[in-house]
Amino acid sequence: MQVNLENTTKKLCVIGDPVLHSKSPLIHNTMLSALGLDYIYLCQSVPRGQAAEWLKCAKCAAYAGFNATMPHKEELFPLMDETDSDAALFRSVNTVCIRDGRAYGYNTDGRGFIRSLVDLGTSPEGKTVLLLGAGGAARAVALKLAQQGALKVLVCNRTVEKAAVLCASDPLDRLIPAPFDGGTLRRLAEEADLVVNCTSLGMAGTSGQFEDFSFLEALRPGAPVLDLIYAPAETELLRRAKALGHPTANGLGMLVYQAVFALEHFTDTPIDPAAMLALLRPVLGL
Ligand code: NAP
Repeated sequence: MQVNLENTTKKLCVIGDPVLHSKSPLIHNTMLSALGLDYIYLCQSVPRGQAAEWLKCAKCAAYAGFNATMPHKEELFPLMDETDSDAALFRSVNTVCIRDGRAYGYNTDGRGFIRSLVDLGTSPEGKTVLLLGAGGAARAVALKLAQQGALKVLVCNRTVEKAAVLCASDPLDRLIPAPFDGGTLRRLAEEADLVVNCTSLGMAGTSGQFEDFSFLEALRPGAPVLDLIYAPAETELLRRAKALGHPTANGLGMLVYQAVFALEHFTDTPIDPAAMLALLRPVLGL
């Protein structure tokens, strides 16, 4: 894509290790161009363990801010001068704004996820959620669901100890750890109002796949199924859920909306999330 640069153009970037696969530069530069905002968004490889060094460099080089992906989100949290309530809840930041030499940390993953639920015609209030996985993405999603009024979030993970650690960090005590075997998933699916896949099972480029999809048959009619994966656009989980008549959505909404909310912080400009999703869907080819 073509980007016009002036000497006054403000700098943004995404840091990670690895990071070269990141779609953030394409997403942010497309939005910045459409909105006529004078910023450039770069891709910056920062090795694991060097987030503190990077933060000093970013301040010195007068970056307006940056996004962080794995493995820097947790390491950055204690380095912030101030954080928003979601960053404090997740103890991780995905968005850092640098203003007058001070670092302001935000986490827009949870808000991005909740906004994607709106497109699916649902919300967390009063719901029992079957949440699959207990990695970095599951952490933000589970804690945000509880904060936004979910009755119970049943966190099923292959490594059940990781689910237990995640659930123990919920200040509202609404997260319940469980194993990931077929029998447990079927039993818990019976009481679920919503299913969210936060595992990498079914993701393009990985060999992992669900061994057993029969838990979908135990779901209540009409219970929505959301997969955080966006490539492929329709995972086998979503294909089977749709065939059984459940409303489904992939992770494209969350991906775009967390970026929209980050860009609002960087630029202090209100941005229409739905318009950005419509703009980016063909650009991303998803
Ligand atoms: P992660 O921290 O590496 O967590 C991976 C999760 O998948 C863990 O719970 C892991 O279980 C589980 N898992 C992996 N292989 C498995 C298998 N063979 N059987 C059962 N469980 C398995 O990754 P993450 O950052 O949370 O990302 C998870 C997924 O969400 C990825 O597909 C990623 O692309 C997607 N994601 C999407 C967005 C978005 O904006 N749409 C944002 C973030 C992530 P164990 O704990 O037992 O290893």
